[in-house]
Amino acid sequence: EDKEEELVIDYVSKNMNNMTVNMPYQCFINGKFINADDGKTYDTINPADGSVIASVSSASLADVDKAVAAAKEAFENGEWGRMNARERGRLMYRLADLMEEHQEELATIESIDSGAVYTLALKTHIGMSVQTFRYFAGWCDKIQGATIPINQARPNHNLTFTKKEPIGVCAIIIPWNYPLMMLAWKSAACLAAGNTLVLKPAQVTPLTSLKFAELSAKAGFPKGVINILPGSGGLVGQHLSEHPDVRKVGFTGSTPTGKQIMKSSAAANLKKVSLELGGKSPLIIFSDCELDRAVKMGMGAVYFNKGENCIAAGRLFVEESIHDEFVRKVVEEIKKMKIGDPLDRSTDHGPQNHKAHLEKLLQYCETGVKEGATLVYGGRQVRRPGFFMEPTVFTDVEDHMYIAQEESFGPVMVISKFKNGDVDGVLQRANATEYGLASGVFTKDISKALYISEKLEAGTVFINTYNKTDVAAPFGGFKLSGFGKDL
Ligand code: NAD
Repeated sequence: EDKEEELVIDYVSKNMNNMTVNMPYQCFINGKFINADDGKTYDTINPADGSVIASVSSASLADVDKAVAAAKEAFENGEWGRMNARERGRLMYRLADLMEEHQEELATIESIDSGAVYTLALKTHIGMSVQTFRYFAGWCDKIQGATIPINQARPNHNLTFTKKEPIGVCAIIIPWNYPLMMLAWKSAACLAAGNTLVLKPAQVTPLTSLKFAELSAKAGFPKGVINILPGSGGLVGQHLSEHPDVRKVGFTGSTPTGKQIMKSSAAANLKKVSLELGGKSPLIIFSDCELDRAVKMGMGAVYFNKGENCIAAGRLFVEESIHDEFVRKVVEEIKKMKIGDPLDRSTDHGPQNHKAHLEKLLQYCETGVKEGATLVYGGRQVRRPGFFMEPTVFTDVEDHMYIAQEESFGPVMVISKFKNGDVDGVLQRANATEYGLASGVFTKDISKALYISEKLEAGTVFINTYNKTDVAAPFGGFKLSGFGKDL
């Protein structure tokens, strides 16, 4: 009877990219798109020109309570709790197919809401989200416990068994750099295991999450299993992490917010928490590397998704003997990058996600200059509408400097030299950060690469490559980069 209820969706529709893009803009609670309880809305902005894309419902505390209650009901008494695992998998496959059918529309929405260039949005932001749902769809009916012989005397009459059970209502709180992909990385495993969820997208990038809500309903997910609440972190996010009926919070975002979430979760009911936080990932480039590859990958390590990439190489250590040539080649390549409209298929570098972030990045560069680092290229806003920043390169960066220690989360390459052959010295410097998300090394010497990968304190060590994440491999860090793994 529930399934027959028609899904009513108000859209903000725009003609762009040779198609009509339909964007839901209301909260999605218990299988329905509805206005916020207090009627509040806020504008989401296109960073390519500063224009308003849509006015989106801003969820209130009452909406959080409604969504959590719907998720609890769906988990405890709804169809979802009774559904067999294989059917759950079928729904997830169907959702992945629908996302793929709508990939161009999703990529266009992601591009105008987040500033990602369309080609990257299509391949990575949306492409990897589809893959994530498909991959986890296959896990639904393969979640097994163990059989353990106890009392090891023979003949052994005593066995115990373990079962894996869903946790219950999960809150998912995500950032703005890969809006749909962060949703997918956190939600797919959560749903595959049989949980229900309430998700809060970043306030500045709510649109693909709401489109996803529409597709989940069309795929046939029962009401209450997936709830999406656009709104503020301090209000919606905070209330979710404190909520007594939420059993787990999966969070990706900054380290200060992660600490705050851990406090509020613990103070409320000791719910489980997993945290994917910031990073300042070191990338070490030895003189025995393939230089052109190191230049290309090193640039990808910094400028991919305009630097709004949690595993971005926050600091490059380049061996003295190749340092100057490396820098020269990087600058040469930057000059070839096309900065402009992210929807244009030939654009390499789009706008930063929002105005405050651009301002923070410009400040970051000013600090680098004041501290005495050499600004070799960039450091300025691009003269055009929107929130564009020049790809930037700093050299002569010393370990104590702010730009050597703090994440920029933007297109800023921070380069330090290290003495020829000083493997242990550079390792020590690379590890001298409070973060531990990713890292990388370029060298043709496999023994050196393996030695380094053992010693680097990071969740991932890329060897002669960078940014190569995959849905089948765990992702996450340690130290101030958090704990618990995605994928
Ligand atoms: P943020 O911490 O400001 O916000 C993240 C989310 O938390 C948003 O949805 C926000 O609204 C919400 N939030 C804010 N205050 C809250 C509170 N008190 N309680 C609950 N929720 C709250 O981070 P951001 O600026 O959106 O994202 C950038 C940061 O995210 C960077 O530090 C980046 O490194 C990190 N990041 C990490 C990963 C990873 O996998 N480790 C991936 C992407 C981004």
